Amino acid sequence: MQNGICRLCQKDKELSFEHIPPKSAFNKTTRYFSVPFKEFAKAKNWLNYKPKGKINQGGLGYHSLCEKCNGFLNDNYVRPYADWAKFGMSAIKNAKSDYNVWEVTEKNPFRILKQIIAMFIAMNEPWFGKQNPELLEFVNNPELKILSERYKIYVYLKSRGQIRTTKWSGTNFYGQVCELAFEPFGYILNIDNYNGIDHLTEISGWKNYTDERNHTFDIGLYDYPTYLPIPTDYRTKEEININH
Ligand SMILES: [Zn+2]
Repeated sequence: MQNGICRLCQKDKELSFEHIPPKSAFNKTTRYFSVPFKEFAKAKNWLNYKPKGKINQGGLGYHSLCEKCNGFLNDNYVRPYADWAKFGMSAIKNAKSDYNVWEVTEKNPFRILKQIIAMFIAMNEPWFGKQNPELLEFVNNPELKILSERYKIYVYLKSRGQIRTTKWSGTNFYGQVCELAFEPFGYILNIDNYNGIDHLTEISGWKNYTDERNHTFDIGLYDYPTYLPIPTDYRTKEEININH
């Protein structure tokens, strides 16, 4: 246990370890490296780069939420999200090309979207939620359907490459982005970019679904590799080698 500001309720409390994504979404025993971006950037050959950071076991996550908020997510959003992750794993297995249209059945997109935004809040520093109270409100109130057009969420299938956890950081071609890529999905949160991001599937509209778990819908998904810790970089190994 450690103390700090809970990302969701913004109170100074004891923080518990929050699995991001949830344990039940294939994040129980993930082994991963924590590699400072600077260290990575100095490496000569990116693809053969062997991180020196320590190996973490027992799942990816952060000490970022208090016990109460942790429990709140579990009670409200984790099950619909885990169900969505199961679909993602089967989609990766059955993908015939880099872009496929899937029929998704018996899901609650409204709650899945809330969990995705909760993960972005939890992986960022407390100031991020403070500066975006609308995102906090959207997650903290399970019934709230309002989320302004400023906030866009995108998804793709992530079947190859590294885990990517880009906190709200710099800007890139699309303005400011935050990215979480963890098999089977990658997500982008993009704020104040009204041009959209090509070749990703926007799911911000899931806020308009009724809060029920029996929705069936079609969704087109790109299947992208994430070999480098650079947000919105989906080059294959071959493409990376050509450019270096
Ligand atoms: Zn809290």
